[in-house]
Parts: sequence; structure tokens; C-alpha cells
Amino acid sequence: MPHRAEAEALDRADPLAGLRDRFALPPGVIYLDGNSLGPLPRATPARLAEVIGREWGEGLIRSWNDAGWMDLPARVGERIAKLIGAPQDSVLVADSTSLNVFKLLGAALALRPGRREIVTEADNFPTDVYVAAGLADLLGQGHRLRRVAAEDLPASLGPQTAVLMLTHVNYRTGAMHDMAALTRAAHAAGALVVWDLAHSAGAVPVDLTAAEADMAVGCGYKFLNGGPGAPAFLYVAPHLHDGLRFPIQGWLGHAEPFAFAPDFRPAAGIAAGLVGTPPVLGLAALQIGVELALEAPMPTVREKSRQLGDLFATLVARECAGHGLRLLTPEAPARRGSQISYAHPGAYPIMRALIARGVIGDVRAPDILRFGLTPLTLRFADVWDAVAVLREVLDSGVWHAPEFQTRPKVT
Ligand SMILES: *Cc1c(COP(=O)(O)O)cnc(C)c1O
Repeated sequence: MPHRAEAEALDRADPLAGLRDRFALPPGVIYLDGNSLGPLPRATPARLAEVIGREWGEGLIRSWNDAGWMDLPARVGERIAKLIGAPQDSVLVADSTSLNVFKLLGAALALRPGRREIVTEADNFPTDVYVAAGLADLLGQGHRLRRVAAEDLPASLGPQTAVLMLTHVNYRTGAMHDMAALTRAAHAAGALVVWDLAHSAGAVPVDLTAAEADMAVGCGYKFLNGGPGAPAFLYVAPHLHDGLRFPIQGWLGHAEPFAFAPDFRPAAGIAAGLVGTPPVLGLAALQIGVELALEAPMPTVREKSRQLGDLFATLVARECAGHGLRLLTPEAPARRGSQISYAHPGAYPIMRALIARGVIGDVRAPDILRFGLTPLTLRFADVWDAVAVLREVLDSGVWHAPEFQTRPKVT
């Protein structure tokens, strides 16, 4: 693509172009970090003001019933279910992704009592790995976490495997697993699968039912645009609901929370996955983000994401050649999520120089530049402009300046 005008033509033909205006993006910023913190939907501040002022301020405690607060985990879960191919009554919004990994792994291990291994990808997101290792220790029954390279996953499943725990789209490289094939491999070994959809929900097509996935977690603040610290979601396939026991028994997972009974009796099905009081403000914000995601047909989102990625990679290959950027994301569209990543020894200072110029991506250790491609808000012309800024930063060598060498607390 030799001219910016061609990127502009793609924008004019983009069926998702209208959605950008539904988000409050600051002027002068090209936002390539929606995979880490989704942008603010325009409707969110007014909705939160209503929940705070009317529902909380005026309704007070009556709003648990009158404003439907107590139903929000299931109601928002029902909407997320539509994004991930999950049937009714199988998804709940609760807690954080990390905590839901713990809850689901604990429930899955209890369903495979004779087996002692959790298998995961060596390059999985740290919190998933830490939680799994911590749970294995806590159980004190000889459970262990095996971390293997992605290509060795199928061969490492066997009679000792209780759970295969994987993140669908890799947070560093953007590589996407074949969910159906790996789930089949795990089932053939008699194991259950827990999928982490943190970088998938709202970004790529997911069909948990078709893949016969057993359990899944996902994140509310990334492609679902629920805001910083938005609550996460959890999924359990209906055929596992009978006898499901979560390792945290909280009062809201009780069959009758307001009976205040002395002993725990789990609610039926996924409802037992609630622990404590729902974060109402976070749920209200997440609801707005999820409804926006549902407005965009997933095949259209996927196609635009692919085109954005192709354009980005093509332009970087042409404009930034000779600067040592190494593409980490698989080139085959079926093998990548909605981000593009490059390795470069100067990743941190380069990203700081980009951010200083209004191009916001992020960096992942040790040396990875990450650019999130959010089809709901990103324009093809933005990709063009972002690569032009990247080229300027690399050509000029400005990223070597001392001001870009320090690392902030959050990268
Ligand atoms: C973002 C992300 C998380 C985040 O977990 P929190 O509990 O919300 O901090 C977990 N797992 C993966 C794979 C992620 O990408």
C-alpha cells in the first residue's frame, strides 16, 4: 500500500467505522493498547452517574432488588455468553481473572480425583501459572504443574493429566491456539480443559460449545471495554454443573444466601461460582462495554482485525526495514489474535518515545513491543500514521535519549 489515501479508502468502506464515535478517545492519540485496557465508551460516565446518584444515592439498599443489582452477575454473564458461544446459564461475571482461574482449576481438579497434573504452556500468562502452582501446593496431595512448549502440548497429555489450562491468545506474541483441536486432545487423554479468554472475548470468534470446552475464564477490561479493574467472567459447560464444587465457598454461592444457614449448600450450576457481593459499579460499566461489543458482528470484527494486522505488518516491513524489528506474531490469520508484536532490544525506550508522540502501545518483558488492534475503534489511517511515527522514532534514533530509558511501574 503506497499511499495513505488507500488506508483512508479502507476506512470509508469499513462497516464498523460508526462504532468509533461511541468511544471517548482523546484527540492526538492513536490507541494501540485496547488489548490491555479498552477505551472508555461514551455511554459509561452517564450510566455510572445514574447508578451512583439514583440507584445508590436514592434507592440505597433497596436497589439490590429494585435496580436488579443482585442479578447483574448472571445478566451480564448472559450477554458475554453470546460473544463466546456459551449456552444460557453457563457464564457469570465475578471476581478477577486470577481468582476465577483458581476457582475453576480447583473445581476441575475435584472432578479428576485420581490425576495429579495440570499441564500448561510454558509461555502462559504469569498469573495463570502462579495460581495453578499455588493451588497445587495448597492441596498437598502431590499435584504438580507441568509447563511445556506449545508444540509439545498434545504429546504431554496422558493418564496423569487432570487439567489442560491454556490461554487461547498468547499475551506476548498474539499467537492463537486451535481451541477445538487441543480440547479434543485433552478429552482423548481423559482430562478437562480450562481456557483463558482474556485476549479473545470481544476480539476473535470463540465458540466454547462447538469446541466442547469444559471451563473458561476471561477479562472484563480488555476487549470488553469494562474499565480499569472491571470484573472478570467464568464459564462452566452445562454437563459439568451437576456436583460442581468450587474451592471457595462464599455466601453468595449458597443455594439460599439469605437463609444464613450454618452450613454451605451450593447453588445449582454456575451460580455456585459466586463468592461475595457483586461489584455493582464495575458491573454497570462492563455492561456498557459488552453491549457495544455485541453490536459488532464477530465475522466483521475478525475480518477487520485481520486487515489491520496485515496492513500494520506490511507497512512495518516496508518502512522500518533494517532497524532490527522481529515480527513475533504468526503471519497466518487463523493463527493470530488481535494484536501484533515485535521483538527489539530497545523495546522499552522505543515504546516510551512512541507514547511521547501519542502512539500508545505497550511492552512486555523482556523485549517485546505490543500493538493491540481494536477493530471497534481503530482506523486504517491510524495504522498508517502509527507506523509513520514508529519509522520516525527509529530513523532518528530519538529513542536513545536519556528521558526514555527509565521504566515506569506499570508497563
Ligand atoms: C490480562 C490477563 C489476566 C489478568 O488477570 P487479572 O486477575 O485481571 O489481573 C489473566 N490472564 C491472562 C491470560 C491475561 O491476559
